Amino acid sequence: MSERHIRQERLPQVGLEGQRRLAAARVAIVGCGATGSRLAELLGRAGVGFLRLIDRDVVELSNLQRQALYTHADVQAVEPKAAAAARALSAIDPDLTLDPVVTDLSAGNAPQLLGDVDLVLDGTDNFPTRMVCNDVCVRDRRPFIYCGVVGIEGQVLVVTPGGPCLRCYVPELPAPGALPTCDTAGVLGTAVALVSALSAGEALKLLLGSDDVRAGEVLVLDAWHAELRAIGLPVDPACPCCGRGEYRFLGAPDAAVPTELCGRDAIQLPASGAPVDLAAAAERLAGLGTLQLGPWLLRIDTDERRVLLFKDGRVVVGNTRDVAEARSVRARLLGD
Ligand SMILES: [Zn+2]
Repeated sequence: MSERHIRQERLPQVGLEGQRRLAAARVAIVGCGATGSRLAELLGRAGVGFLRLIDRDVVELSNLQRQALYTHADVQAVEPKAAAAARALSAIDPDLTLDPVVTDLSAGNAPQLLGDVDLVLDGTDNFPTRMVCNDVCVRDRRPFIYCGVVGIEGQVLVVTPGGPCLRCYVPELPAPGALPTCDTAGVLGTAVALVSALSAGEALKLLLGSDDVRAGEVLVLDAWHAELRAIGLPVDPACPCCGRGEYRFLGAPDAAVPTELCGRDAIQLPASGAPVDLAAAAERLAGLGTLQLGPWLLRIDTDERRVLLFKDGRVVVGNTRDVAEARSVRARLLGD
């Protein structure tokens, strides 16, 4: 027995053999925000040996109220969440294998980024990305756990091969603005913690091969009134994804649309081509503002706004919610 996980190994549900299974397990966490950072911490501390941490964004001051692993120093350094989470987890347990990936998960990269893991966990804040995860996992018969929190409530759905999938529950993408978001409705930190723990618990059971996994039910947790409900979800034979095998979200073009970032006064413009040479860009832009060059991104602070240029080619333009304005800022700075 290793001292680190000795209390967990004592559990009849885990044991020494279970702990070995966790150490050999590979999990991808898509999105490292509120739920994703907590999923990463819970699974990392539990000894899940390999964690791929995928996130497109940087740590913001407004994240610290509910997100695990991040610090005020990460905000000041404008650290990408994936990199900051990996650094924090390796400080907790240096034996973990951590693979931070600073990018938008898309139809183009999902088969590769999710293709070599045992389990995919939803730590995102949006349905387009969840639908891509659901499509690739159902197609490849890989388990996937949907997890979402808004306001005081959250939901978890464990999707396993042969069981109902996310599209049996949410058949089509909700129209933009149709659902409340953390931005519009706010979010309670304790709801994030409880719902993330529920999802992480199902993840551990799946990795341990337990019969107690709650697949095929939507688990709804109200953190304010301390209520947990399970709603049975039948397999929908007409489900386009698990029923008919049409993986529409894998055929969608790669993150081709500009996105307003949840909870931020900023627009993300998608990558237009090959990876960017950040050092060359920094040289070109010297004098336009205060620049900070890191391994994942170049930060440009001008009098008007902050602009983030990511190595994968994405640009996040701050202080606007207008796509046309964001495009003109990018054109001015980057000449495209
Ligand atoms: Zn389905």
